[in-house]
Amino acid sequence: MALEKATGKIVAAQGNLMTVEFTGIIRQNELVYVKTGGQSLKGEVIEINGNLAKVQVFEPTRGVRYGDLVEFDEELLSVELGPGLLKSIYDGLQNPLEDVAKEAGYFLPRGMYLTPLDREKKWSFTPMVKAGDPVERASYIGWVPEGVIEHKIMVPFRFQGKGTIVEIKDAGEYTIDDEIAKIKDENGNVQSITMAQKWPSKFPLRFGKRRYPDQPIITGSRIIDGPFPVAKGGTFCTPGPFGAGKTVLQHQISKNAEAQVVIVVACGERAGEVVEILREFPLLDDPQTGKKLIDRTCIICNTSSMPVAARESSVYVGTTIGEYYRQMGLDTLLLADSTSRWAQALREMSGRLEEIPGEEAFPAYLSSRIAEFYERAGLIENVMGDTGSLTMGGAVSPAGGNFEEPVTQSTLAVVGCFLGLSRSRSDARRFPAIDPLISWSKYFDRFGETGDDDLKKKVKIIHKAQTVLKESDEIGKKMSVVGEEGISLEDIVVFLKGEFYDSVFLQQNAFDKVDTTCDVNRQLELAEVVGTVIDTKFKFNTRDDARKFFVDLSNQVIQWNYTAKGDPDYKVQKNAILEQVRGEKE
Ligand code: ADP
Ligand code: MG
Repeated sequence: MALEKATGKIVAAQGNLMTVEFTGIIRQNELVYVKTGGQSLKGEVIEINGNLAKVQVFEPTRGVRYGDLVEFDEELLSVELGPGLLKSIYDGLQNPLEDVAKEAGYFLPRGMYLTPLDREKKWSFTPMVKAGDPVERASYIGWVPEGVIEHKIMVPFRFQGKGTIVEIKDAGEYTIDDEIAKIKDENGNVQSITMAQKWPSKFPLRFGKRRYPDQPIITGSRIIDGPFPVAKGGTFCTPGPFGAGKTVLQHQISKNAEAQVVIVVACGERAGEVVEILREFPLLDDPQTGKKLIDRTCIICNTSSMPVAARESSVYVGTTIGEYYRQMGLDTLLLADSTSRWAQALREMSGRLEEIPGEEAFPAYLSSRIAEFYERAGLIENVMGDTGSLTMGGAVSPAGGNFEEPVTQSTLAVVGCFLGLSRSRSDARRFPAIDPLISWSKYFDRFGETGDDDLKKKVKIIHKAQTVLKESDEIGKKMSVVGEEGISLEDIVVFLKGEFYDSVFLQQNAFDKVDTTCDVNRQLELAEVVGTVIDTKFKFNTRDDARKFFVDLSNQVIQWNYTAKGDPDYKVQKNAILEQVRGEKE
């Protein structure tokens, strides 16, 4: 490490992009402070060329002058990690927005930075090691309760080699800055350990063995868990036109998916959307714990009015926090809404750097950035032998809902599951508006082979139902051209079976208190009913008979979907449905 930090001076400025002539040794992505007019503006090195560096400043740069001093920090742009991340709402530079609101009314004056974690709050620490115990980076030394989870305190990730505990504090109340342990490293140096540590946000945080994701993460949305499942530690994307329901879908998933920690990265579509999140998210109930959803959530918020580099940074801050909780052996879920805003930030930065543009003026490295981002998802066995996962899902908002554009295409090339929302489905109010004819999941077939018996059974039925749905769609299209008279009764029945599967299984009412989420057992029961209907040869005499039968049956099954499992009527309704199907059997 250099003894003296590098310094430089501004020689050119273009928007937030500064050219700095410097002396000393600097690194790519190193933090810098531009000293101007008594203020200190944070920025990041994004290009080094000889003794000139390009620096992207995270804040408005009005009034920056030729010759202004620039200090290089040696640190890379980092995230502070420790107890207190949950319940927090940060901006893209990890400034806590609630404190910002208190101090400065939602908009942070430039040059002002707040510490991400509460310095005063005391946490109830319980040690998990004793003096003399061997440790390494990322091994647990204790834990504190944080909301509903056990927050493991780990040996700092920058710790090198084997270490030995020299001293560990007794159980008690400590702040994140209190020393809780002393650890001797391989060179005999003793390091003081607190509960907080830092990690550079653009580097994956992952210690332990990487494992192949082979279990589904149950989201409670039938259309996902059925035909387009997502693996725990896997990736998915939800592209769709404006207003198709991407945000509602992400909220549904954040509430109901099997994850202990949820990270929401909101790269705002509109400025008002962020204020809505700040106001509304803390009020949401958590159906899983009976408490508030925010208790196990960390939100990173951005609006398009924030400087471009802060927008670019937000997804990395969120990912690092997700990886941190995964490292404790927890199942974490990161939802980014929308990654298109992030890609636009990359485009703006690239444009200012005068890089050779690729398709639609996005930088040529767009697809590798997107790949690197999703690559940070995964299932790991940590250094203690515990399994943790980070599942990542990103909304994409292509202009006009046209999926043939670079951000959607680059995303589709790397994710494991594509949930494509369509305007025609949302216009027809078939929610969630995920189009079952264009979406896919690479995990579906795998679960059909590696899943437990119930999952295998479900995959088999859904596979058949999807085939019927495709036939049904073909017949529907033909019918809209030649009219119902041109279609055989047999084909009409196939059409109605497809519609039945769509309306009772794929569609789900987010605003009904029962139907809003559907557990695995219930999904299987419903799939069995769908499978029975699909397999049944019916004895209808006329098209009208068939239509009437399916309208009645769908209504009954939807009613059943709205009936809680504990309700005495639940079984009665199911039997009535099966009875009705049997009654029309050939
Ligand atoms: P996007 O984020 O794609 O722009 P939103 O998620 O904000 O779209 O959804 C737009 C509107 O569509 C919502 O305000 C709501 O009225 C309707 N909507 C979306 N999803 C559902 C759903 N699952 N059930 C019922 N209505 C929905
Ligand atoms: Mg939205």
